[in-house]
Amino acid sequence: EKLQGLRNKIVTDGTFPDFPKPGILFRDVFAITRDPESHRTLNEIFDYYSKKAIERGIQAVVAIDARGFLFGPVLALKIGVPFVPVRKRGKLPGNVRSVAYSLEYGEAVMEIQEGSIQQGFKVLVVDDLLATGGSLRAACELITKSGGVVHECLVVLELLDLKGRNLISAPVTSLLQF
Ligand code: AMP
Repeated sequence: EKLQGLRNKIVTDGTFPDFPKPGILFRDVFAITRDPESHRTLNEIFDYYSKKAIERGIQAVVAIDARGFLFGPVLALKIGVPFVPVRKRGKLPGNVRSVAYSLEYGEAVMEIQEGSIQQGFKVLVVDDLLATGGSLRAACELITKSGGVVHECLVVLELLDLKGRNLISAPVTSLLQF
C-alpha cells in the first residue's frame, strides 16, 4: 500500500515526457522528496530495509552521483556504516579509479577515491533509478576493483523495459517499477 502511494506520486507529479531529450520518459524521484508525507513513507521503507541490511552484514554504502546521494547517506546512517561516493569525472579529490560507461542518454566516466573501500567489505550500492544499468554496473566495477564485495543494490525506481538488472551480477532490489 505504501509503495503504491509512492508510485502514484511518481505518476502524478514526477513523470516528464521528452526530458532531457525527445523520446525519454523522465521519472523524477524529487516528486517523492517534495511531498513530506511521501518522503516520510520512503524513510520508513529505508528503516525496514536498513534493519535487514544490518542482519545481512552490510559494511559500507556506495551511492552514485548525483541523485543516489539523496538516499545513500541516509541508508549509511541507519545501517551505521561508511558512506562512499561514486562520482562523475573530475569531481573527487586525491587519487581515483575510473571506469567509462554508457547511459540511456549519453556517455560518461565514473570515479571512486582510492582507499575509500576497505578490503573485503560487503557493500550496498544505491541509486535513484535503474535504467539501462550502465551506471550501476560501472559503480559495481569500481567497488570490485577497489577490493570491496558488491553484496546487493537498491534503487528507488526501476524501468523494467530496459532490463538493466541483467547487467548486474549482485541482487538488485527496486522499490517502484515502471
Ligand atoms: P542507467 O545507467 O541507464 O541505468 O541510468 C541510470 C541513471 O540515469 C540514474 O542515475 C538516473 O538518475 C538517470 N536516468 C536514466 N534514465 C532516466 C529516466 N528515464 N528518468 C530519470 N532518470 C533517468
